[in-house]
Amino acid sequence: MTLFMDAEMPVFADFMDGDAAVVHRVRVALEDTESGKVVYLHLTEGEPVKWSVRDVRRLRDQAGRDAVTYGLAGEHPARLVVRDASLNAELGRLCPHLDRHNNTPHLMRRLVILSAAAIASVALIVFVLVPKLADQMAVLMPAKGEQALGDATFKQIREALAQNSTTQLKLCDAPEGKAALEKLVARLLPGTDFPYDIRLHVLDHKMVNAFALPGGHIVMFRGLLNEAQSAEEIAGILGHEMGHVEHRDPTRLALRSAGSVGVLGLLLGDFAGGAVVLFLTERLIQAKYSQGAEAASDEYAHALLAKAGLPSSRMGDFFRRLGKKDKDNSLLSHLASHPDPVARIAAADAANTVADDYERVLDDQEWQALKGICN
Ligand SMILES: [Zn+2]
Repeated sequence: MTLFMDAEMPVFADFMDGDAAVVHRVRVALEDTESGKVVYLHLTEGEPVKWSVRDVRRLRDQAGRDAVTYGLAGEHPARLVVRDASLNAELGRLCPHLDRHNNTPHLMRRLVILSAAAIASVALIVFVLVPKLADQMAVLMPAKGEQALGDATFKQIREALAQNSTTQLKLCDAPEGKAALEKLVARLLPGTDFPYDIRLHVLDHKMVNAFALPGGHIVMFRGLLNEAQSAEEIAGILGHEMGHVEHRDPTRLALRSAGSVGVLGLLLGDFAGGAVVLFLTERLIQAKYSQGAEAASDEYAHALLAKAGLPSSRMGDFFRRLGKKDKDNSLLSHLASHPDPVARIAAADAANTVADDYERVLDDQEWQALKGICN
């Protein structure tokens, strides 16, 4: 007897059997059988999959979402994602052990129980298909979409780096410092052609780092300003990040990371929510690009500095000093992640076209104001 869902009002859900990395659209029915109530998942062909209501578990970390993901007792890898509110309510009523969980549902244990074939399929999706799709989307994405993606990720980064979970990391905006920052950007902008405004932010954090986000956001940390010894060094780093923006590297990275994380989250159930945001944030802050992408952004910066009448050798100075520093946070940063730092410094020196009497980008007072932008 069908307890729920008659044929005229079928209810569908997404089902992954845990063996193949394929999402099936299934019709869900709840029926009484001799061995108790059973959830029937009707695939488009073949025998329906049967889940005893006693074995159905609701996966954690899903507060505030309208889709609920279900699994089975004993860490079985199958997943059922239900968006229909009345079906979710019905399952809540009928499944007696919905929220009973093993104590330590570790990510590794979940991965281990996936069969080798499933791991191969997941790897194909996460490492091949998602990146390919993301690269195509990054090219097709309109400027407005990139900006929206950038705005959202910038907010996430500020929240993730804040000491207190209810706040955002402080944006440094002392007026004289901001004016100096704008002067710096204005010196470089004539050599560029972006479909959106460059929005340069300084965040109050000690990491020696700068990185670009989709849609023209460029973020520098206070630690970078502390570490730099001239405004020209900062101009070089800004030029490098503008290169990433121009080449849409952050958009590609954000789409790749978000896509891969989404697929993993679906397959692994409660590996979702906070963990996903942290993973994405970390990827964007570290911004590990290929050697080719880094070299292309350096070349872009050299050309931009030359057009602005600024020396690219100051960029080399900065990376020389960074390379001498001991292992600390800065080595995890995007700026220190270059695959070949020696070649990078040599290239910055070799590209210099400007004589020593160039017009400085900021005077001493402006440079001090920029360094104190967080005060
Ligand atoms: Zn870079």
